[in-house]
Amino acid sequence: MAADFPAGGPVPVHLVIGPPGCGKTTALSALARLHPWLARFGVRDYGLRLAALGDPLGLAARETLLRQGILPDALVRDQFTHFLDRLDPSHRVVVVEGYPRSPRQCADLDEAVGRRERERIAGLVIVEVPDDVAFERVSGRRICADCGTPAPAGRAGCEQCGGRVVTRRDDTAARFAERLAEYHGVAARLRGHFAARDLVRTVDGTRDPQAVRTRLQELLLAGPARPEPAADRAGGGAAAR
Ligand SMILES: [Zn+2]
Repeated sequence: MAADFPAGGPVPVHLVIGPPGCGKTTALSALARLHPWLARFGVRDYGLRLAALGDPLGLAARETLLRQGILPDALVRDQFTHFLDRLDPSHRVVVVEGYPRSPRQCADLDEAVGRRERERIAGLVIVEVPDDVAFERVSGRRICADCGTPAPAGRAGCEQCGGRVVTRRDDTAARFAERLAEYHGVAARLRGHFAARDLVRTVDGTRDPQAVRTRLQELLLAGPARPEPAADRAGGGAAAR
């Protein structure tokens, strides 16, 4: 397993984004199951996990997360720092999902990681699929009305119980268009922020799931895209030494 990644060196922090239906969640979940060296931070998952543990940072976020609201910048930043502080030595690659979303949050993240010895921002990985493909995939997400089993597109009855197959409610066209527009706004801001440092990489999400997963793994293991010379990091708090 240790041969999977280069030993030593900084732990790369990758921000992974993609439109709904791009397959990134499926790919990352599979990679995380296969590889204990991968640590994932998702704003919603981490906040809810902290809440379940009774941590004040989680309890402060719980209500907002449950109604799909946006957390205050300072709270997300503190949760992310909380996550970094508790990384295990076996974690050699960090993937961040759903954060940052704004220029302010980009600056927070740069600062939080820039202050650390072990982790380094590796860049932005975008899993790309055209809007029409994303829509087709998401609107194809259908489940059994009786038992909730996912059903492949074009199937009328449930494979498990023969029940009626319906479209998932949050995947209706209007809601999808909203989520997609929101995604494109965030993606443009992040691209702008990271392109200046040549830290943007893309994955072709139209390929089959195995190929997407392989490409994603390659990028995650590639480490920091371009180690920044110390002089360029003076503004990030490196002057302390
Ligand atoms: Zn069923």
